[in-house]
Amino acid sequence: MHAGDTDVRVPEEPGDADALLSRISSWVDTRYSVRKVLEHWGPDAARDADTFLSDRANRRFLELHADMAEEGGPGERQHSWAAVETRREVVMCGPYYPDYGRGEHSEDRAVRQTEELLATEGVRALGSDVFIFTRSSPCLDRDTQPCMLHLVEKALEWHALYGVRTHIGYARSWGFKGNKEALFREVDFQQLECVGLSHDHDSYVEAMAKNCPEGNLGPLSKDLFGAVKRMLDAGSKGLRFSLKPATQEPNRKSCFKSVESCVSECEEGGASEEERKAETKEADAMAEAAQELVSEGTLQNLREHVERGLTFARDYGFSSQTDETAGAEVRQAFVRGWRDMAEGRYAEVIRERLTDDFNRHVTHLFSQDVVKLDKEYIQIGRIRFSEGSLPSLEDR
Ligand SMILES: [Zn+2]
Repeated sequence: MHAGDTDVRVPEEPGDADALLSRISSWVDTRYSVRKVLEHWGPDAARDADTFLSDRANRRFLELHADMAEEGGPGERQHSWAAVETRREVVMCGPYYPDYGRGEHSEDRAVRQTEELLATEGVRALGSDVFIFTRSSPCLDRDTQPCMLHLVEKALEWHALYGVRTHIGYARSWGFKGNKEALFREVDFQQLECVGLSHDHDSYVEAMAKNCPEGNLGPLSKDLFGAVKRMLDAGSKGLRFSLKPATQEPNRKSCFKSVESCVSECEEGGASEEERKAETKEADAMAEAAQELVSEGTLQNLREHVERGLTFARDYGFSSQTDETAGAEVRQAFVRGWRDMAEGRYAEVIRERLTDDFNRHVTHLFSQDVVKLDKEYIQIGRIRFSEGSLPSLEDR
């Protein structure tokens, strides 16, 4: 359908839409958006920077969400739904789920359905509100046009064609999940230690040169250093976390890879083939037994996790055939491996937090960029769910 097919007013100067689209499309450029976020992610950035919807839109989203949940409830998977509210009625459609195999995100279907509804309504849609819900905020990064840009473009188009206002609400910030997550991949435990020890970027670079001279990783940039430092200073040093990895590894022993490599170090010390075999067997059994400590998922800070491993190693009983020297070697190797694993997991949790924070800022800044000039036809924001109504959707 084209604007000329209906007699709906076209209130916007075409230039406005073009200007908006060209401004927001720069967000798709990795370097631009990363720089923008890092600039804003400075010491003065509010910890809870977020864009929320107007009270009225928030209330409407909550009501519609409750209606949707009544009809079976889409659960916790990523999903979208849409609603067109005219003066006469509310038409809802969805929930829709992504079909990643076909490169289709849930928002794509919500957009198509909305478009059909609006086309059916035609001139009667004038003055209506369109609500599009997506559990995770629309993506800013994919091979085809990212959902965020697609939705803004559609909102402009619908406003011009039908005179409707579009509200986009989400439960958690998704931002750039995907490619830009790699921004923090170099933040490993050694990096964290050096950042924690340093007052500024210069002393951090020195600490890196001293503590990790052979490391494969170069020092972090000043901006990234600042982001990590702020996160550590804000209390992440004593962070309580679970040793259970977020994604369950198919090989249960894989988190003890370091135990195995420690044992092989001992082996290089000139033990006989027999002795080495026996040690490896004991180390395997020990790692297997310690697996329970990992899968318990107990929340503790790093020091407590390390101590738990030490206690386990001290109390662990070997089979009667294992002599004392070999037992001590295996215990030592285990403690080293356990510590590596706990430190690795700690760094992983910090990386997850950095990524979440980064993506929250991206979504926030993008929404601000759109909304500051174009309140007329679009609003994008996180939905404020009341306490306890949707606990599983909270991202922090
Ligand atoms: Zn998407």
